[in-house]
Amino acid sequence: KNFPGDFSGNTIQRNTPKVLFSTVSPVGFEKPELITFNEELSEEIGLGKFEEKDLDFLVGNNLPENIQTYATAYAGHQFGNWAGQLGDGRAILAGEITNDSGKKTEIQWKGAGATPYSRHADGRAVLRSSVREYLMSEAMLHLGVPTTRALSLSFTGEDVVRDMMYSGNPQAEKGAVVVRTAESFLRFGHFELISAQQEYDTLEKLVNFTIDNYYPQITSEGNQKYKDFFQEICKRTADLMVEWFRVGFVHGVMNTDNMSILGLTIDYGPYSMMDEYDLNFTPNTTDLPGRRYAFGKQGQISQWNLWQLANSLNPLIEDEQFLEKTLNEFGDYFWKTHDTMLCKKFGFDQLLDGDEEFFTNWQGLMQELQLDYTLFFNELEKIDNKNNLKDTFQRISYTLLHPEKILKIEDFINAYNTRLNRNLISKEESITLMQKINPKFILRNFHLYQCIEEINSGKTDILEKLTTALKNPYQEIYPEYSIKRPSEYDDISGCSMLS
Ligand code: AMP
Ligand code: MG
Ligand code: MG
Repeated sequence: KNFPGDFSGNTIQRNTPKVLFSTVSPVGFEKPELITFNEELSEEIGLGKFEEKDLDFLVGNNLPENIQTYATAYAGHQFGNWAGQLGDGRAILAGEITNDSGKKTEIQWKGAGATPYSRHADGRAVLRSSVREYLMSEAMLHLGVPTTRALSLSFTGEDVVRDMMYSGNPQAEKGAVVVRTAESFLRFGHFELISAQQEYDTLEKLVNFTIDNYYPQITSEGNQKYKDFFQEICKRTADLMVEWFRVGFVHGVMNTDNMSILGLTIDYGPYSMMDEYDLNFTPNTTDLPGRRYAFGKQGQISQWNLWQLANSLNPLIEDEQFLEKTLNEFGDYFWKTHDTMLCKKFGFDQLLDGDEEFFTNWQGLMQELQLDYTLFFNELEKIDNKNNLKDTFQRISYTLLHPEKILKIEDFINAYNTRLNRNLISKEESITLMQKINPKFILRNFHLYQCIEEINSGKTDILEKLTTALKNPYQEIYPEYSIKRPSEYDDISGCSMLS
């Protein structure tokens, strides 16, 4: 059944046993305006070049007749608690497109109107959150991190009212729609929903669909097939977490409904790239004081989320011992992958005895001296004598470095050089290793803040410049972007701006 129109204010959860979706049309916007379009992605997925008339499609107006749009139902554990049924509350799927090489891509609007799963909310998105999703998902792609992508960013022409931080002072912001793409938007939560409803036939269909379409390398049969599937998800999830650690990405809302079954970064909400290194850092103000989703906890939390997925899949797998064993092995795999990654960031060719201790000491130094995570590794590449240590480290620290702190840096550099001498590769090869793995440009909150302000005032210069920078994150295209967060932006990291 089609439900055209607007579901905002609809407080009833639509129950869709056995189908997991409702057909629903985007609400439509009278005066849309394109902000930016991702030509590269469009060509890649088979949509071709942008033409003026495409704007209508990009905001969900005048859809072709053969298109059947829909929103999906999923469930989830939010902040550690079972939240029951949720669903695409502000995402509507346009369907799937196949490119010339046969690769399929799902396309969806985010912010194109309410759906039967919107609950009390309006299905709209504000410019702020849309710019953040558009730019960061593309930044992640170019950093080499698995992610959903973004095709376009448009003004809807309508204002959306949001009460930031529940201040009691709601403000109108410009509404915007992002068209985003992914091989699949399936989340852990889709599996959790049908399993919780005890629809095991549907669960089996969904798992088989997922394996056939997205895990073609799994060729085993029967029960083993489902085991291999779970193992593969564990691996992909661990790999993704290590990638987040590598680039300093904090997701902020790692609820199971925000976990991709393909191991993609999905749902760009109050995320943040880390400026000063801090394992306790969370950009999500609704996650204080618990800091469940803090930077340093992301490995552990993803494992917790995989436990929930295991519970959902157990009716198919019927082997609790296997699931427990797999989940326990997750930790070993995660740490080994993590430490190997960290080795490369330091330019070490392999993980050696004593490295764990070296890393722990380094973490202590980073936290105590409040050093910028990205700039630290950029500087480490260049350090060759001790004379300029003080200036160098002061430039990348968020606190004043007193002489005793400089001594600590000297100690660390000595330990680092000693460790480098155990490398089997040359100094040049070690530097090359570092340059490939340590980004020179990361999209920081203050960049996003400046960009959003500018788009709000009708200009897109920063947007274009950031787009160029984020496409080449391992080069220093704009030296003015290789700086720590200027102090005037101190309160935008982890404040209402993001959540
Ligand atoms: P999130 O915290 O972004 O993962 O969202 C949690 C749930 O709330 C998901 O089911 C979303 O679809 C829904 N949701 C978030 N924002 C809105 C909105 N503006 N309108 C409708 N549903 C929303
Ligand atoms: Mg979500
Ligand atoms: Mg969200």
